[in-house]
Amino acid sequence: MMYFIYFIIFIFGASVGSFLNVVIDRVPREQSITNPPSHCPACKRKLRAWDMVPILSYIWFRGHCRYCGAYIPLRTLVIEAATGALFLGLFLYYGGTAYWGITAFYTLIVIAIAIIDLEHGIIPNKITYPALPVCLGLSAIYLPLQESVWLGAVGSPHLAAVISALAGGCLGFVIFSAITLVAREGMGWGDVKLAAVMGFMTGLPLILVALGIAIVLGGLSAAGMLILRRKGRKEAIPFGPFLCLGTFATLLWGGYIIDWYIGLF
Ligand SMILES: [Zn+2]
Repeated sequence: MMYFIYFIIFIFGASVGSFLNVVIDRVPREQSITNPPSHCPACKRKLRAWDMVPILSYIWFRGHCRYCGAYIPLRTLVIEAATGALFLGLFLYYGGTAYWGITAFYTLIVIAIAIIDLEHGIIPNKITYPALPVCLGLSAIYLPLQESVWLGAVGSPHLAAVISALAGGCLGFVIFSAITLVAREGMGWGDVKLAAVMGFMTGLPLILVALGIAIVLGGLSAAGMLILRRKGRKEAIPFGPFLCLGTFATLLWGGYIIDWYIGLF
């Protein structure tokens, strides 16, 4: 019975991943995500239900449109499988709690932004602007570990969570505004807005963990690129995916990371 529930959760996640592909395909091109309905971008044929079975359709038609044979990016399959696996993994980690739902939802935002930034080098306002109020609202319902920091000062756990989220968002915004003004390349105002969203998701002090992870990973990758770069090809690596990785790691393990860091001193 339990395995049946795991299976259902995986399939649900994969279906959400299928929709996530639509968001990733259309939002950076300024297209509506609902209209027109799913179609092949090459031959415009409307897709039927059996063309859109997550994972299976891609494998069955070997990554090609079954009407015109156009190539469908492998990313489509990866996102479907990864979202299914993440939904299931988070369920095994948190059980069927509200925190499972919220973390799964945050993960969707983070994946969409990371992939769009990788493919297009932009972080769309169409995602960050709505994410700000939504994440603040969700944080008010449940924000991990904040109770210990802010609860003593204000008494109400929900108020403490809102203060924590607002403080985290403002700090993320200020730190990344400063970095963007100083850095010449690779950083833009999309990253600044994303840093504010991250703060709303993680709160203060965890936003510092998320930004720290992003800056360390981004720095290491930039150094790696510099070493590997043979010809003087100037290509800034997008920073959004590192912010997204930092947020994801912090949502899952932020408390442990803070404890470990404090334990160093
Ligand atoms: Zn086609």
